[in-house]
Amino acid sequence: WTEGTQADAENSLTELAALAETAGSQVLEGLIQRRNRPDPATYIGRGKVDDLGSVVLSAGADTVICDGELSPSQLRNLEQRTKVKVVDRTALILDIFAQHAKSKEGRAQVELAQLEYLLPRLRGWGETLSRQTGGSGRGGGAGGGVGVRGPGETKLETDRRRIRHRIARLRREIKAMRTVRETKRARRTRNAVPAVAIAGYTNAGKSSLLNRLTGAGVLVEDALFATLDPTTRRSTTSDGRVYTLSDTVGFVRHLPHQIVEAFRSTLEEVAEADLVVHVVDGAHPDPEEQVRAVREVLGEVGADRLPELLVVNKIDAADEETLLRLKRLWPEAVFVSAHRGRGIDGLREAIERRLPRPAVEMRVVLP
Ligand code: GDP
Repeated sequence: WTEGTQADAENSLTELAALAETAGSQVLEGLIQRRNRPDPATYIGRGKVDDLGSVVLSAGADTVICDGELSPSQLRNLEQRTKVKVVDRTALILDIFAQHAKSKEGRAQVELAQLEYLLPRLRGWGETLSRQTGGSGRGGGAGGGVGVRGPGETKLETDRRRIRHRIARLRREIKAMRTVRETKRARRTRNAVPAVAIAGYTNAGKSSLLNRLTGAGVLVEDALFATLDPTTRRSTTSDGRVYTLSDTVGFVRHLPHQIVEAFRSTLEEVAEADLVVHVVDGAHPDPEEQVRAVREVLGEVGADRLPELLVVNKIDAADEETLLRLKRLWPEAVFVSAHRGRGIDGLREAIERRLPRPAVEMRVVLP
């Protein structure tokens, strides 16, 4: 259902489909219903549930993904009526974060967010969908598909308590990891190594760009930073100044609050950077909206006052008209293709130009 315009709903659904594909699903059909508010029992209207059932049957789908957050009973009712697994937007996004979290801390944060999402939903899911997990937080991946990775569902009574224990433990571990990270960060500040944070919407091409920038032989991976976070690399400018480049978590619209909370500490690190390289997908139907959404989150963690270098990526896939429009809109932006390697040298120079210059120490000897 949607309360916005048809175009809003379609954009949001296209994004949901892209997210689902990112999570490894194959998207078969889309269904939109306009309503003033979701149906308390079935989210979409009861009549529409029958339509959904037919679509599921004719398309041979095994999962329904809803563009919103479902209450536990809505989820159960929809599963009973459609006879397939139902996943909401929040679960889908959590699932993607579970796949993409690389560092130990990131994985712990995603597991925490998944458990917090799961806990109030245990009642609704009950025994019928229960599935044992090893408690590793990344278990259950063997079957593939959306919403099956992560902590999963466990038997109601005993495991609710187990989940609370696990949550408490994860919080403690994350706190300890944070202390270690802050110590390392303090060391970095003392060394005065400028830091560049790569931010941007999910799928904009941040990782590809980081690989392009670091894989060209000019930049080398540094073991020290590799242990701090696998996505932080050390790099040197043409005149020998050292700086770090790090990937940050991807942004999406309607980021589940569990994720924002979990990643707040990671995102706050962006606020400590000297420069934010903001990557935009130039081939996306609405790049401006993506930029707005990312800047909003950056503002929330106080990173909006940092110098920002806007980078429009995927120029190989974008149409000429869009690129012209974006060039007029963002005259300072750098246009690149991480895939083809186009514009990468220019980007490197633009980064170098914006790095803070080290203070020059002058000693004047008076006679
Ligand atoms: P991230 O989520 O921002 O880290 O994005 P990724 O680097 O994982 O890239 C997301 C998707 O966009 C992947 O399928 C990439 O292959 C694709 N991609 C990245 N850069 C380009 C590019 O310059 N052109 C095209 N056509 N696709 C790209």
